[in-house]
Amino acid sequence: MIQLENVYKTYRMGDTTVRALNGVSLEIRAGEFVAIMGASGSGKSTLMHVLGLLDQPTSGAFRLFGRDVSRLSEDELAILRSRTVGFVFQQFHLLARTSAAENAALPALYSFDPVPDGRAAELLRGIGLGERLQHNPNELSGGQQQRVAIARSLVNDPQILFADEPTGNLDSTSAEEIMGILTELNRQGKTIILVTHEPDLAQYAKRIIRLRDGHLLADEPNTPRPTPHTITFPSLGKNSLPGFQGSERSTAFDGAGLLPGRAARLRSSLRRIGPLLRQAFRSIAAAKVRSALSMLGILIGVGAIIAVLALGTGAKEAMRRSLSSLGSNLLSLNPGAVQSSGVRQAVGATTRLTLDDAEELPKAIPLIARASAFVRDRGQTVFQDHNWNTEVDGVAPAYQQMRNWEIRAGRFFTEGEMNERHRVAVIGATVARELFGEGNTGVGEFIRINRVSFQVIGSLAGKGASSFGDQDDVILIPVTTAMYRLMGRRYVDRIYAEARTMAAIPLTQDRILEVMKRRHHIPPSQENPFEVRNMAEIQEALMSTTRTMSVLGSSIAVISLLVGGIGIMNIMLVSVTERTREIGLRKAIGARRGEIMMQFLVEALVISVTGGCLGILLGWGISFGMKRFADWPTSVSVQSVALAVIFSGLVGIVFGLWPARKAALLNPIEALRYE
Ligand code: ADP
Ligand code: MG
Repeated sequence: MIQLENVYKTYRMGDTTVRALNGVSLEIRAGEFVAIMGASGSGKSTLMHVLGLLDQPTSGAFRLFGRDVSRLSEDELAILRSRTVGFVFQQFHLLARTSAAENAALPALYSFDPVPDGRAAELLRGIGLGERLQHNPNELSGGQQQRVAIARSLVNDPQILFADEPTGNLDSTSAEEIMGILTELNRQGKTIILVTHEPDLAQYAKRIIRLRDGHLLADEPNTPRPTPHTITFPSLGKNSLPGFQGSERSTAFDGAGLLPGRAARLRSSLRRIGPLLRQAFRSIAAAKVRSALSMLGILIGVGAIIAVLALGTGAKEAMRRSLSSLGSNLLSLNPGAVQSSGVRQAVGATTRLTLDDAEELPKAIPLIARASAFVRDRGQTVFQDHNWNTEVDGVAPAYQQMRNWEIRAGRFFTEGEMNERHRVAVIGATVARELFGEGNTGVGEFIRINRVSFQVIGSLAGKGASSFGDQDDVILIPVTTAMYRLMGRRYVDRIYAEARTMAAIPLTQDRILEVMKRRHHIPPSQENPFEVRNMAEIQEALMSTTRTMSVLGSSIAVISLLVGGIGIMNIMLVSVTERTREIGLRKAIGARRGEIMMQFLVEALVISVTGGCLGILLGWGISFGMKRFADWPTSVSVQSVALAVIFSGLVGIVFGLWPARKAALLNPIEALRYE
């Protein structure tokens, strides 16, 4: 079954090389019970590691079941270990905080051949631990722990059992029990290879091999010490190795029958996803505070992203709503900044808009349906003992239709009233409520605006609040009255013009600029000092502010996510170091690199995605709070939630990758020895 031919194993330590195995040739047949003896440092463990496929010889041939296994890849070795060998270590190497039953069942996780569910429990019962299935290692005696480890080594039904000083940490009674179990297992057909330096223990074996300085010193048969048949094992199945006994499963494996094919490897990996997730949750739960803290960065980052995006989406929606109430064919003519000999001058420094411009434009350009001059100021309004500070807009009568203002009571002012600078006012719904009380329109009353007396002739229907303030918090008065009787101005701030059709907007814009240039005697060579914007452009300009805010907020969120990712990486690195021996054990019982990597990646992913989901709740809560208490328009979109989940998942994978790789690349022997 096992054939070693002239096997060497050398370790290089600085300048000196240590020959741990120095030309060992040896054959072990199925069903033997071999004790490997020798002084400390004689190479016993090294030999066992080579035989147990944990390590590979530096030179020489190693045949297992007739197949050369001295030049296999790490993963192939892992697969072979899982299928053919079991280990019992001096230090037991049981997983803490994990029940005896689960410890014993661990190799099944990495096994290619399906292991029946109750098998670990059955073995534990057979070995006398039926009452202790749910106990954790710290609730078991040393002898009991080692029995759990023996059950673990048997779960995959291996042909060969390796025991490296299995009784080194046990009292003599427990040691005898363990040796009895090993003898019994050998009686039932297992090949046992026992490594020990105690001559007493070697007496249980049928053959004793002695090593000295890596050489085979002696190899002789032994009459084993009789042991009572105290332990009864459940039937251990066929003790089968596919391919060698013509098993029905052999099609899934390669020609030699030892290594499974690609499809079988993939299938077994898929089977592992569920258990891997469960393990990840368990080890996260085992370090609750630490995991919670490492989630914090992701949680805050995702919360911030959700809140910022919610604010942005909400603002955009509110803006779109209020802009559509402006009338879509509206154009706004502003005195632009002018470029003069390279110096950009202040707005309106050279060219100002006049009332005449507003009057002439519709006459000169038939594409314009109507136009209105516009001036704006703040005004302190008073009615009896009510005070209200509001926005006062001087406009033309046409402005009412251009902005889709509806009259609730009274009427709008007329051309005649405008031309004669009447002190009449049309008040918005908010102003009406503040000055005259809920439900009153105030039509007919006299109010003072900045100490000038006005009569309220109309009251506007409400448009509702929007992202750039309360549209109803406004008083409309004739633009002439505003300029000459209230604000003392000679120029208007802006002229609104309405194109007859949407399609005519670009042409109208061009025509307005032409007419203005001519009216203001701007030489053709000079840049046009005016600026005509349509609603789409105005909308764009407003949006860009919210976009800037969003970008700012998002970059803060991304930084927080990065910090969160680094936090997770840190925790995972600590976790890998802490669990080095666990990783070594998992590898010894057959875990491949990819599976170790998966385990830690899944853990990082679970932390980051859990953090992300909590962050979504946090962000949703924040945006709900902003809406409820600060009256900000917010709206959590499905996309932002999806984005947050994807982002946190990515952070988990990216920052979990390095620790996971570090774990996957650990050498099983060194990892098992790690203190
Ligand atoms: P035993 O198990 O018989 O006590 P080992 O097989 O552990 O002995 O070690 C045999 C020799 O190889 C010792 O001299 C030891 O120092 C050396 N050795 C074992 N492992 C390593 C290693 N990883 N690096 C360097 N030297 C090693
Ligand atoms: Mg040793």
